[in-house]
Formats: sequence, C-alpha cells, structure tokens
Amino acid sequence: MQPKDSTTNEGFKGFTNHSCPFLPCHEGVRGEFNCLFCYCPLIAYECPGPYEVFTDKNGVTRKDCSACTLPHNGYQGAWNFIQKWLEKPVVWNGQPQTRKYRQKPVKPKKGQSETDETRDTPDTSLP
Ligand code: SF4
Repeated sequence: MQPKDSTTNEGFKGFTNHSCPFLPCHEGVRGEFNCLFCYCPLIAYECPGPYEVFTDKNGVTRKDCSACTLPHNGYQGAWNFIQKWLEKPVVWNGQPQTRKYRQKPVKPKKGQSETDETRDTPDTSLP
C-alpha cells in the first residue's frame, strides 16, 4: 500500500531559522532563505554546485560548499532542486567540479514583478 498525498500544505518544503546565530550563513541566496537543507543531502553525490575540493586532516577528500546557495534558494526552489538531484543520485568521485555552474537569474514573466516565486527556481539541469 502506497501512502496517499492528502495535504496541500507545503510547509514541509522549507523554513527559515531566524534564531540561528549564523543566519545568513551564505550570501546571495535568492528567495526566502531555506534552512531545511543546512546539511546538504547532495554532499556525497554529484551535484551542480560551485564547490571547491580540499583534503581534511585525516586525508579525506571533501567538498567545500561555502560558495553554494542552491540548497537555500527559497522554500519551493530548494526543495525542487534537492528532489530532482536525489531522483538518480550518483556517488561523488572526489574530483573537482567540472560542470559549469548553471544557475541563472530567472526573469519575471510579463506583467509580473520579481517575487519569491519567480526567484525561487534555479536553472540547474541534470547531467
Ligand atoms: S556544492 Fe551545493 S549542491 Fe553541491 S553538495 Fe555542496 S551545498 Fe550541496
């Protein structure tokens, strides 16, 4: 038996922790600052983010995601981005980012001002 979608409430897609002493922990976030993915679920997987690679004191290769805003760009936008990249996760091979960072500004539709809704959708295509 499959669980049924029985809610139209989308509050689970994000929140902003205004009590966090580190907010905003990343500059340049578009839309509402989404704290839900503070620990990015894509850390161990291939992603389109602008990460740098470093080796920690234990000799483990890691991502430095300081410059990435993708998991924080709006409630709806960040949720959709993470869901899309977790559909077919590919384990990160420890190599530097080769993918061009594809996040582009989203232009408002004709007659629409630039709202959170229009700014929430990062253009981050799957490989
Ligand atoms: S670069 Fe961005 S999307 Fe990729 S793992 Fe780091 S925070 Fe997540």
